[in-house]
Amino acid sequence: MTGVLDSLGKAARHNYILIAECRGMGQPCGRRSSFLPGDLAEIYGAGRDPHRLRFHCSECGSKRVKIILIKPDERNRDVIVKRPRKRQVVEWVEMRYRIF
Ligand SMILES: [Zn+2]
Repeated sequence: MTGVLDSLGKAARHNYILIAECRGMGQPCGRRSSFLPGDLAEIYGAGRDPHRLRFHCSECGSKRVKIILIKPDERNRDVIVKRPRKRQVVEWVEMRYRIF
């Protein structure tokens, strides 16, 4: 299965989880974050090769990040993943307003 997971769309369809694991700078820091391939596909496109995504570690800043695709099994269906949360930002702009 691993050989054909060359796109985020396929990984999403087969219910894989993408883990980004930091390899650190000099010494490994070991930080791991998990993502849903479908969430990443909405941003980077369904055809994007998951192994070519560029991550950087939020802990140590390293860009040496290993991409791991795993399929949660039946006994382990609850996973903690990072998901995008869209925040609405209101910008207040001064402009002329005529009352009467
Ligand atoms: Zn790190």
